[in-house]
Amino acid sequence: MDDELLAILACPACHTSVERQDDGLLCPTCGRLFPIRNGIPVMLLSEAEGPGDAGDSADHGGEKPSAHQENS
Ligand SMILES: [Zn+2]
Repeated sequence: MDDELLAILACPACHTSVERQDDGLLCPTCGRLFPIRNGIPVMLLSEAEGPGDAGDSADHGGEKPSAHQENS
């Protein structure tokens, strides 16, 4: 994937330019990771992996409300 293509790609949620990662394209603003399939970036919110983004994906059964505060 070349830089020219990357330069015109933006997150469909917040329109931030995405950053190339090993496993996809990361939006630094909302934290969504868009997959790249067959060399083609998939800039779809429905395909993006978001951190704590309560989407319509019901893949994981039994999600607990939130007790995610750990001090390292
Ligand atoms: Zn975004």
